[in-house]
Amino acid sequence: MSITATALAPCSRCGERSEITVYKSMNVAENPELKEKLRDGSLFIWECPHCHQANLARYETLYHDPEKKIMIWLMPAGELPESQMKAIANHTRAMGDYRLRMVKDVGELMEKILVFDAGLDDLAVEMCKYVTKMEMMSKNREAASGIASAVFHFHRVEEQDGVRYLVFIYPSDGRMMSLNVGFNVYEDSLGIIGRNPDIVPSDNFMKIDQDWILSFMK
Ligand SMILES: [Zn+2]
Repeated sequence: MSITATALAPCSRCGERSEITVYKSMNVAENPELKEKLRDGSLFIWECPHCHQANLARYETLYHDPEKKIMIWLMPAGELPESQMKAIANHTRAMGDYRLRMVKDVGELMEKILVFDAGLDDLAVEMCKYVTKMEMMSKNREAASGIASAVFHFHRVEEQDGVRYLVFIYPSDGRMMSLNVGFNVYEDSLGIIGRNPDIVPSDNFMKIDQDWILSFMK
């Protein structure tokens, strides 16, 4: 089930505090409307009744999709207490093979949901981003540092003339760029991960991002 609470949040414009609803956890099988609100970005936005400023709520929440067996902990500040994390990990172990992830912001949470809903493996998606960046940097050495620091976000899988692509988006010079990466790159990444079982995360809440992939590539 989804658990809500109320919190007093200050408006970023006028500073007035308002009572807002926060989700301690969200079960998207029972409350599919929450997933829609997450995908369109409205779930974490609240409007100040005094000045009508749209504010972004920052709080911890646990996203739970029991059908896909996914739990994603959104932790905007710091880490979850180890004991609490272990307790939940133990609990999910009893329920079967859960994928447990930790993310630091709403953008990362939305990306994980898009990846899992597309039926993809997020480890392979991160590997894909890494391989693509390396290739772009080797082809364009002048832009290499900009490419290295760009944050790629998975957007969707597309098909054109029978060829499948992973579409990534990233900001560059104030604009959003879109990048098509062949599905074969994803499949190769999946193969690399399959041949290297040590890099597969433990059954605990893991941050699977570019830092994670870099820790294996060094
Ligand atoms: Zn306000």
